[in-house]
Amino acid sequence: MELYNLTIHELNDLLKKKEVTVREIAESVFSRIDDVEDKVRAYACLSADKAFEQAKKADMLIRDNTDFSALNGIPVAIKDNMCTEGIQTTCASRILQDFRPPYTASVIEKLNSRGYLHTGMTNMDEFAMGSSTENSSYRVTKNPWDITRVPGGSSGGSAAAVAAGECIAALGSDTGGSIRQPAALCGVVGLKPTYGRVSRYGLVAFASSLDQIGPLTKDVTDCAIMLKAISGHDPADSTSAAISVPDYQAVLGRDIKGIKLGIPGEYFISGMDPSVDRSVREAIKVFERLGAVIEDISLPHTEYAVAAYYIIATAEASSNLARYDGVKYGYRTKDADNLLEMYMKTRDEGFGSEVKRRIMLGTYVLSAGYYDAYYRKAQQVRTLIKRDFDKAFEKVDAILTPTTPTPAFSIGEKTQDPLQMYLSDIFTISVNLAGIPAISIPCGFTEGELPVGLQILGKHFDEERILQAAYAYEQSTEWHKRRAKIRG
Ligand code: GLN
Repeated sequence: MELYNLTIHELNDLLKKKEVTVREIAESVFSRIDDVEDKVRAYACLSADKAFEQAKKADMLIRDNTDFSALNGIPVAIKDNMCTEGIQTTCASRILQDFRPPYTASVIEKLNSRGYLHTGMTNMDEFAMGSSTENSSYRVTKNPWDITRVPGGSSGGSAAAVAAGECIAALGSDTGGSIRQPAALCGVVGLKPTYGRVSRYGLVAFASSLDQIGPLTKDVTDCAIMLKAISGHDPADSTSAAISVPDYQAVLGRDIKGIKLGIPGEYFISGMDPSVDRSVREAIKVFERLGAVIEDISLPHTEYAVAAYYIIATAEASSNLARYDGVKYGYRTKDADNLLEMYMKTRDEGFGSEVKRRIMLGTYVLSAGYYDAYYRKAQQVRTLIKRDFDKAFEKVDAILTPTTPTPAFSIGEKTQDPLQMYLSDIFTISVNLAGIPAISIPCGFTEGELPVGLQILGKHFDEERILQAAYAYEQSTEWHKRRAKIRG
């Protein structure tokens, strides 16, 4: 098997035995990029020189027997909204074109101290607003399983890069589903950590009460390795929690006999794709065979989640995006006669239409006279959604749902209908509103060979439990071993 097709832990085993060098791993991944990137278009920009430079150091540490830790020498792709000093970070937006941050995100510092190789920045929906990567100002990323379809979004570039073997693992960000939904659509593993588990210092803010950074990987073991590497309190981010980080790999392999798993009726809706419904129900049976106790539960406020999210997220975005005014950094219009015109033209020319729609919505729901009717109401609904989960977790240890209502849809299918696009996050959004962790893992394929994702939701700071359950399922199935053929 080609090196680019392997996982972090498989490559680490080979490095420990000195059967491969980091340079060979990097060569394998970059020659794979040469072969398929034209079709997949996962990257916003590549960093081969930096990666080979980092590879030299990683190889030296291995030669001297000083660093065999899991991420030393592993090629990782980074979503284009995490800052690395000197490396172009644009959020796939014209308004940040050519922006080179003067500082590095804490998650990247952490990966750096563990010896990762930076393959490049991955494509995304502009400012992480979208579910298909079609809102990128660069280009549309394609789904490696069928290049006529979307990879999901907004971390579509990261998910596609992992699925296509154009990196070994990747980082994404998730505000309403942007790690889990593309992971499901591309047949990889994606985890949104608990709010506060991972530092957001250096992540370009979209909706600050919802955003989290998390890993996209080929299997659950790699997910545990990446999560451990990026988690923990950071004095530079006051929303990161001062709670110790467990060794996530240590729980993998513990059996799940007697573990209680809740199935919420509200997540099995009419209109759901039959093959998604079938795959998820079969997955539930696998858990039952493994000794889990399956219980029906109810999350009654689920139907209000999308509406509440599009008020809260847009309100926060309208405030966060006010900083892009063309003054200190990023794009500035070429012709303006006065300051006000400069602001207006810069923002008009710099932002794409979905971002403008969100800024307008967010400004509206926060404006005097509408604040109570929309923003305050949405916050109240958010509390009810969180209480639904609190109540459910009194009865069960984790919750199983589909990650998305349908498999990957066709490019262009939903671009004219924002509401249809918003509804593709119907099963992922509540998790962000409640701040709990959730993972998406592959659980089957449609007749058309498109991947289906299973979502496992856990209690606050109980990533261990969802990883344990995900691993048990993964070990008794073969889905995670399939690799995309890049067809279409
Ligand atoms: N698709 C959702 C949105 O457009 C979620 C995006 C995200 O998680 N960043 O807002």
